[in-house]
Amino acid sequence: TSLNQLARERLAELLEGFGLAADTPLSNWIDGGLVAGDGEQITLTNPATGEALVSYHDAGATLIERATQAATRGQREWMALTASERGRRMHAALRGLEGHEEALAQLESVVAGKPIRDCRAEVGKVREMFEYYAGWCDKQHGEVIPVPTSHLNYVRHVPYGVVGQITPWNAPMFTCAWQLAPAIAAGNGAVLKPSELTPFSSVVIAMLLETGGQGLPKGLINIVNGLGKTTGAALTDHPTISKLVFVGSPQSGRMIAEAGARRLVPSVLELGGKSANIVFADAKLDEAVAGAQAAIFAAAGQSCVAGSRLLIERSVFEQVTTRLARAAEQIEVGLPSEEATRMGPLQNSRQFDQVMRMIDAAVAAGARLLTGGKRPAGLPEEAQGYFIAPTVLVDVTPDMEIAQQEVFGPVLVAMGFDDEAEAIRLANETRFGLAGAVWSQDVARAHRVAGQLRAGTVWINSYKAISVMSPFGGFGDSGFGRSSGLEGLREYTVPQSVWVETATQASVAFGYGSGV
Ligand code: NAD
Repeated sequence: TSLNQLARERLAELLEGFGLAADTPLSNWIDGGLVAGDGEQITLTNPATGEALVSYHDAGATLIERATQAATRGQREWMALTASERGRRMHAALRGLEGHEEALAQLESVVAGKPIRDCRAEVGKVREMFEYYAGWCDKQHGEVIPVPTSHLNYVRHVPYGVVGQITPWNAPMFTCAWQLAPAIAAGNGAVLKPSELTPFSSVVIAMLLETGGQGLPKGLINIVNGLGKTTGAALTDHPTISKLVFVGSPQSGRMIAEAGARRLVPSVLELGGKSANIVFADAKLDEAVAGAQAAIFAAAGQSCVAGSRLLIERSVFEQVTTRLARAAEQIEVGLPSEEATRMGPLQNSRQFDQVMRMIDAAVAAGARLLTGGKRPAGLPEEAQGYFIAPTVLVDVTPDMEIAQQEVFGPVLVAMGFDDEAEAIRLANETRFGLAGAVWSQDVARAHRVAGQLRAGTVWINSYKAISVMSPFGGFGDSGFGRSSGLEGLREYTVPQSVWVETATQASVAFGYGSGV
């Protein structure tokens, strides 16, 4: 269609502008240079039209080998600098982004199918994360432990060396910077594999950061693109990689952790969620409705922290769900490239099919559609891509698949509760534990309930407030380990305990020693 033709031309122009070449994009950033893939061809589809957009080639084991070698050299060079110099250079690297933000946002918008305004905001996050972690470079002092006076004992935080990182398609630029920044701030080199569905933005970010600011050593950060089972597996199995950080689905997360376990390499898993958004009758309902709407429909629900289960006190259930359904119908669903668009298509056909199947199964199991469940009205004729209207389901019981499994689409399930205890029980009745929220004007209750939610992030009278300064991660099937904040930085170092004899005469213990 002409709509897809326009998108293809725009994408070709953007790729060309970044030097990735238009026809067969150079889809890897390895050892300070753009490199084409050497494996199978992967064709990307335009999420807005469902038609072919561009093709590139999978990166095989040879390229992974080159990337890990480059990262090893880059890391040595990086650690030869002073800590303050590393901080200054991380700041300087950001100069590479300057003037390219809009093109980067557009590139992501075309490929990911994300509304352009969301992509601009995501580029801003890249900057925030590098600025924040640049500040940590010269503040990672160790501790002195008060062991008996015969010894001095101190702890250093030592980088792993080269880390492997794997990210999903729903927030490619965010997750790329989210993991690259702490990895290098902690003194590591990195090889990152984005989702095969959104390969280019991470390549461009790494290229701009490494070259534009003249700050980072060549090869310190590398981006390799391809499928999970080929490029991803070659990365997780590579002997140089000594830590794995994965952002994606629980199914793939399990495989990453298993691959790590085989080589005794630790992993951080940032996985999915089924987050509960609890609305008490004493909440400010206008705000709660607006919050619930943003919680699930932003990014068309393709957000790990999506507030996909709305738990509402029964006395206001009818009122809240009715208002929410009306609000959902007002959301501007449209083409990703349009400024007014608040919600775009789902990213890919697999995701679209899964969401539609889950809605149909819920309805077949007795759930009722208050709104949505189908393609939205008012789209251009040519926009035959993966659009689903904002959907609200009621008459849902906690045992239904739609109440338990992550949908990763614009689908909200609403369930009622009678009291606090039931709200907490329902909220925790899931294998996930990523996020949750409580809406109430009763301060004591809000904190009481928040404290009992089994979730890594909890909001009170808010949703989706997120900062690189605050630790983020899950319980249960939402994964383990933390990203952001000091906790996120510490995932990229190993504590090393150093002992120094300080007694006048050394007394090497034969056995356990004494005096603790
Ligand atoms: P996915 O698990 O399908 O893919 C994620 C990444 O893993 C991709 O790069 C993929 O190529 C790679 N991969 C898959 N199998 C692999 C293997 N065997 N070895 C190595 N790599 C492999 O996830 P997705 O569909 O891209 O993303 C959606 C999921 O990500 C959702 O579940 C969402 O909740 C989750 N997510 C979590 C967070 C978080 O911070 N907790 C953030 C964003 C997304």
